Amino acid sequence: MKNRVLQYLVAHKQCDLFGKPLSEKSIPFTTTTGYITYDFETMEQTINEKITEKSESMDCAQLCPLSDAMTVHTDKDKTFYWDVRSGEDFIVDFLDELFRQALLVKEYNLEQCALYKHLQDENDIDNISYIYKYFCTVKVLGFNSSRFDSHFLMKHLHSGKCAIKHSIGSSSALKAIKVSHKDYSNVQVSFIDAMNYTGGMTLKQFAAEFGGVKSADKKVEKGVFPYNAFDTTNNNEVLSRGEVFPKEVFFNKLSSKNITDESYEWYVKEFTSKYTSHWTYLQYYNELDTQIMCPALDNYITDVKQYGIDLLSYVSLSSFACATKYSMCYADFKIDGVYSSGCDEKRFVLSKVHWSKKRRSYTEQDAKKKLDTSGNVSDPDYDTVKNLFENGTCYICGSKFSMEGRHVPTLDRIDNDLPHTLSNTKPYCMRCNSYKSNRDEHLTRLWIQLDEYCHTKHLPYNISRDNEASYHISERELQVDLVTLCTVGT
Ligand SMILES: [Zn+2]
Repeated sequence: MKNRVLQYLVAHKQCDLFGKPLSEKSIPFTTTTGYITYDFETMEQTINEKITEKSESMDCAQLCPLSDAMTVHTDKDKTFYWDVRSGEDFIVDFLDELFRQALLVKEYNLEQCALYKHLQDENDIDNISYIYKYFCTVKVLGFNSSRFDSHFLMKHLHSGKCAIKHSIGSSSALKAIKVSHKDYSNVQVSFIDAMNYTGGMTLKQFAAEFGGVKSADKKVEKGVFPYNAFDTTNNNEVLSRGEVFPKEVFFNKLSSKNITDESYEWYVKEFTSKYTSHWTYLQYYNELDTQIMCPALDNYITDVKQYGIDLLSYVSLSSFACATKYSMCYADFKIDGVYSSGCDEKRFVLSKVHWSKKRRSYTEQDAKKKLDTSGNVSDPDYDTVKNLFENGTCYICGSKFSMEGRHVPTLDRIDNDLPHTLSNTKPYCMRCNSYKSNRDEHLTRLWIQLDEYCHTKHLPYNISRDNEASYHISERELQVDLVTLCTVGT
């Protein structure tokens, strides 16, 4: 609800809230369905390092980028691939192509957005620019990329044509990095680790559990790759070979595990039937890692859409889980619902003395503004106003009026440039009147109703200067709770 356009459209019942239509004209909730996935493959570089002058050198290894693939996911998927054979700057080529494709993804997302089309039809220039800005950042997802892939990118994001605009997370685990490119001023990309949405899961598990891509289903296999067969010194010679490697070179030093016999047999069969060298097999393997993320992400995006949540606008499992939880809490919220009956407060009774004071104060206010007060509410209107205040409800929150607290009745002017006549006023409770001020009536109702709803359902909400009364009520309730807590604690 931070988005100004959504606030406006929800308040006017023109847009779905939490995935549910608010009226017949309600525009369906839009999620980001176009995105890019990427993945780096690596090789070891052995370094002889001396810790001190006298110590013997010891073998250390660091991981270097070997190849990179990306899949551009729109209604037609496209996959791109680069590796070290085209020089060490292949990451620069990847970044250039990434931004070129991001522009197309941005256009695709805008085309899919019913809200954007609606605003264009209405020629609502102000609000169009908000939605446009939202889709100007294209999401680029890696898996477990915050620990590996983003470090290969970092060197290139600090220099050359790219620049980091914003980052979330620590240097060792970056959750998201927003990047711009000198040649593409109309689009930015945000590198996100898809593992942020899954917790400690492998890509294979993510593809299987979220995307239905299972090893048993031989249509798509995550694949295995003989990383231990080569390093930075001999990669070209080894990967150019056309014969299969022994099972030992598939040993994973990080997990201290080797692949299963079933996976090795799959590799032998796959390689001998389709590939002439391990370079082409690497390309297949690298591209596959970016492709199998897409069905899993799509299912995830669709699953959370029912809660009115755009998955890719979140960068952590906790923030996204929190949004899902809140969406459930607000599931039965209605803008026209009556959440504040005022039944626990003393019902309002309008005395002639009170009315006389009230209507004089309205006339004084209008006279100060140099408005014509000849048609203003007056003593003979007592019966009409008495009926409004004692039997009617607040025009904004629907609450009955009370003698004290937030629901004391007032007459609020419909048009603030006209005086307090009967036809230019509506009964508002004190709280709704002071909150509304010069705000839009529909937006006022939305915020007041959300505030009332939270209060009734014991949900947390922000306390602003405008709802000081809520603060005092909460303060009283909090003090009672603390006293109870302290009593129980002692
Ligand atoms: Zn009210």
